Amino acid sequence: MKRYEPEQIEPKWQRVWEEARAFNVPNPDPGAPTAENHWYQLEMLPYPSGPSLHMGHVLNYTMGDVQTHVRRRSGWHVVRPMGWDAFGLPAENAAIREGRHPRETIERNIGTMRAQMKRLGWAIDWDREVAAHQPTFYRWTQWLFQQFVAHDLCYRREGPVNWCPNDQTVIANEYVVDGRCERCGAEVELRNMTQWFMRTTAYADELLEYPGADWPEKTKAIQRNWIGRSDGAEVLFRVDELDLDIPVFTTRPDTLFGATFFVVAPEHAFVEAHASQEARTYAKHAGAKRTEERAADTEKTGVFTGHYATNPVNGERLPIWVADYVLMDYGTGAIMAVPAHDERDAQFAATFGLAVVQVIDEDGKLVNSDRFDGMPAEDAKRAIVAALEADGRGKATVNYRLRDWSVSRQRYWGCPIPFIHCERCGVVPVPEDELPVILPDIEDYAPKGKSPLASNEEYMNVDCPKCGGPAQRDPDTMDTFVDSSWYFIRYVDPHNHEAAFDRDVVDYWMPVSQYIGGIDHSTGHLLYSRFFVKAMNDWGMLGFREPFARLFHQGWVQLGGTKMSKTKGNVEGPDATVDAYGADAVRLYILFMGPADQDMEWTPEGVEGIVRFLRRLWRVVHDVAERAPAAGPGDTQLTRTAHRTIAKVTDDVLRRFQFHTPISAVMELVNELADDPVAPDARFAAETAVSLIQPYAPHIAEELWTVLGHERLWEQAWPVADPAALEQDTFELVVQVNGKVRDRFEVSADLSDDELVQRALASERVQAHVNGVTVRKTIVVPRKLVNIVVG
Ligand SMILES: [Zn+2]
Ligand SMILES: [Zn+2]
Repeated sequence: MKRYEPEQIEPKWQRVWEEARAFNVPNPDPGAPTAENHWYQLEMLPYPSGPSLHMGHVLNYTMGDVQTHVRRRSGWHVVRPMGWDAFGLPAENAAIREGRHPRETIERNIGTMRAQMKRLGWAIDWDREVAAHQPTFYRWTQWLFQQFVAHDLCYRREGPVNWCPNDQTVIANEYVVDGRCERCGAEVELRNMTQWFMRTTAYADELLEYPGADWPEKTKAIQRNWIGRSDGAEVLFRVDELDLDIPVFTTRPDTLFGATFFVVAPEHAFVEAHASQEARTYAKHAGAKRTEERAADTEKTGVFTGHYATNPVNGERLPIWVADYVLMDYGTGAIMAVPAHDERDAQFAATFGLAVVQVIDEDGKLVNSDRFDGMPAEDAKRAIVAALEADGRGKATVNYRLRDWSVSRQRYWGCPIPFIHCERCGVVPVPEDELPVILPDIEDYAPKGKSPLASNEEYMNVDCPKCGGPAQRDPDTMDTFVDSSWYFIRYVDPHNHEAAFDRDVVDYWMPVSQYIGGIDHSTGHLLYSRFFVKAMNDWGMLGFREPFARLFHQGWVQLGGTKMSKTKGNVEGPDATVDAYGADAVRLYILFMGPADQDMEWTPEGVEGIVRFLRRLWRVVHDVAERAPAAGPGDTQLTRTAHRTIAKVTDDVLRRFQFHTPISAVMELVNELADDPVAPDARFAAETAVSLIQPYAPHIAEELWTVLGHERLWEQAWPVADPAALEQDTFELVVQVNGKVRDRFEVSADLSDDELVQRALASERVQAHVNGVTVRKTIVVPRKLVNIVVG
């Protein structure tokens, strides 16, 4: 018997698969009938910003690989592509740290990671490889960007945006966490800038629902909370002396009679235009504070503006204050303050000695509310809004927390924005036949607070496509999340030079059957991708409205108790462990550590238990191949265990999405086989074990398959459990009382003698004959009967 040497067999089988093009899956021919059993297996693509894959990637891609193999061998038409999220800040920052050009760093890292992926033996269709920084890809990112603009779903406007002083660029709301840049941790500042925005809010309502998409409840909850729909009313408060209306959004129109003062945010236009000098000075300082500081439950501050607003329901004049506890980005940036029924208003009223009027009693009915007194609050909401509507002073409305997605970045390493600014014609799209706008190679790409491309005159100065006069390119680049909002569609049709993709091909494969990736992308990538697909569906480009039919979030792979990540610097790559133990051991171990949706601690030493299992499998299968009789499966315990294992592995992987329990099940089968490797059905059990472990450990499985005298396991049909063999684990128990048959029923073959007696005595028919008499003894005939002797 040869020794188990993964360093010999793994490269060998990888060559075989590559030469056989085992995992390259062409698209169906145009006009071919649509098969129902197609499967698009996708895991979130990596950022090639680091020099190596980390164990979190290894977990995700091995899960995807197991799905891919089991589905393929179960008769599914499976596509499983891979690519690189190559543009963006992480890549550019890595290049800056190394003092190289981002293209150089990125392409080197891609080369390393691709080699690591091949070395792990993942069944990837490399013909479909896509990288965001390749002009063949970003040509279509630019084309799509222009489509969004043409459909008024992308626009330019001036407004407050989040500025990261460290990364020197605008970042999206979705990537500001607790007031800090998600990438670098720097405190984010608000700046007024003219920027491109994607109109995600156009789909705010639809994004709350997930028709046909089987997503985790918690992810849906995170997205719904981020979108933050609240139903209420917009109410106009009149400032008589200035002859103007200030609109207010409230979710509590039932409390309008309880308003005793009025507050505007420091950034509200009213302050600059009409407030007292003291109020304007306060606003300047308060507005510069961070949102969390302002929202925190600290002492309330504010200044009276010198004006009054009239409450439209009762004509009361409410003093208008400016205070930093009111935020400009919620509602209209102005509120009616109801201290009796709002805690923060109450704190403010207490600080400044303002009136408090209760308008809802303990029974939830209105008081001090004129003709609405006695009405339940829910009814009063509708009645008061109706009254305001009749007077033209308000209307029912919906407010969202979601804001449009800012996509301009003042950085170099991204997709150029395909628009030209002309003094005469305004903002003009680059003509389609001139796409892509190529990102020029420049020496000095370091962030400087304005886009590095702006100082490249050769790039910037162009003729206006409309009037031919002198014009300038847009110097910004796109947020890298624009690239990842559609990469999964390009994978399906990656070599299309005529269009971004062909609708028929995309409709054949998509939506993605199973997506695997981090829950940390819930409010960013996963939301943006849904927005992209809904828009493209509305334009008739594709035939579905949700990109990802099923979604699974892996747990974090931790090292020393914290999540492995480049920013934490505790990344462990797979290379050393593959060197020491082989790819199959690493693949098995990463899935054996526990349920894949829970956090797990990576300990390189833990692999050794898996290596022992692989050596044992190797020995036992060789033993069987040499010594076991050629007979087919027989009706023995080993055959039944094999069928039970098939049923369990199949159900766990395909239905339960469990990856660690199948490994234990195959281990048990191998143990049982090792006890009797010359049994009549040992060959069947060995073939079953090898076949079932193939999705996890494809190299050793392929090798052992040939030892058992077969070929090309990767394309063998997935084993199917024989229901009869599963059922043979029960038998019909005959129950006698004093030798006479009184009952018979099915029981599990696993039951002990004592348990069989308990079941026999519990039978109603038997009870009739043993009640009131003494059971003197019981006789058990294995797998047959229980005789109860009474008297
Ligand atoms: Zn930053
Ligand atoms: Zn022009």
